[in-house]
Amino acid sequence: MFNAIMIDKTRTGSRAGLRSVDPADLPEGEITVRVSYSSLNYKDALAITGRGPVVRQFPMIPGIDLAGEIISSADPVYRPGDQVIANGWGLGETHWGGLSQMARVHGKWLLPRPRAFSARQCMAIGTAGYTAMLCIMALEKGGIAPGDGDIVVTGAGGGVGSIAIALLARLGYRVVAVTGRDSLTEYLRRLGAAEVVGRSVLTHTGRPLQPARWSGAIDVAGGKILAALCATMRPGGVIAACGLAAGMDLPLTVAPFILRGITLHGIDSVMCPREQRMAAWARLERDLDPALVDSMCEEISLRQAITTAPQLLEGNIRGRLVVSTHNA
Ligand code: NDP
Repeated sequence: MFNAIMIDKTRTGSRAGLRSVDPADLPEGEITVRVSYSSLNYKDALAITGRGPVVRQFPMIPGIDLAGEIISSADPVYRPGDQVIANGWGLGETHWGGLSQMARVHGKWLLPRPRAFSARQCMAIGTAGYTAMLCIMALEKGGIAPGDGDIVVTGAGGGVGSIAIALLARLGYRVVAVTGRDSLTEYLRRLGAAEVVGRSVLTHTGRPLQPARWSGAIDVAGGKILAALCATMRPGGVIAACGLAAGMDLPLTVAPFILRGITLHGIDSVMCPREQRMAAWARLERDLDPALVDSMCEEISLRQAITTAPQLLEGNIRGRLVVSTHNA
């Protein structure tokens, strides 16, 4: 038997609890992994609290990230003892995920653990960090280079935001961090932000165009914040949009697209092709300081993942939460 967080359907919604699970109940897959670390992402918090329609079938073990060691493999590419990671692919949504001491997955979902990082560091980075890198690769693809002007990062104090700032600063970009928490100013400067500003800098006025300020943007907020970003991009600016922490709606006009030639680049980490994932993790190995990663993460247990999920959705967690599965 192994321990896992399990989400069950109830009459009024769903309920998450810590459960002892029989390995015989693991889902289909060629590979069984002993999970050492997972992480608590925004999406996991939505799944655990039931505040968002993340879980597609019940019962479900949440956890979109996992790192661990292969125990058995029917895939010729992998052998017992191999160290691997997985992000997305429906883990914790349609297939039992990583907030568990054991997982059974498909070989094509796995990547060998990047050599520069421990399993714990891989999960401190997790989907949030890998998504931050996908966002930066989108800015690069759009031709945005260091020296072109300010790059604005929303939700700066969260997981995606914190890692995006550390990466952008290391790459030589001038980063403006947008946060709802004044108390994080020193933390965000330590990560590399040149300026830390409040969310009011991105107030949605409804005007199609506002004074042009940003060359690039990484947005985890969506909603009116993303609309305000579109209206304040410089000509040729690129926005990498990955989140909905502020909302799903997008009250936009076409003006920034046809009068300033801006690009709105959507980021999907879940079904991102394997080659792109490998490129993103290789870039993380090259461009992310592991010491900064350690400084922005806190370790919690499986049980604490359940109790901490509401706080994460309230925006009260700084940086990343890594979950040690040894500690139930
Ligand atoms: P976190 O909870 O770690 O961080 C979110 C941050 O957003 C908060 O810390 C807060 O930062 C800010 N925030 C919260 N509420 C609001 C609000 N109402 N308005 C503006 N800002 C707000 O989450 P993650 O960084 O892990 O994820 C961020 C978003 O990105 C989520 O929506 C998540 O679902 C999405 N995501 C999408 C992926 C994809 O593949 N497209 C992959 C990974 C994440 P502060 O207090 O500093 O303002």
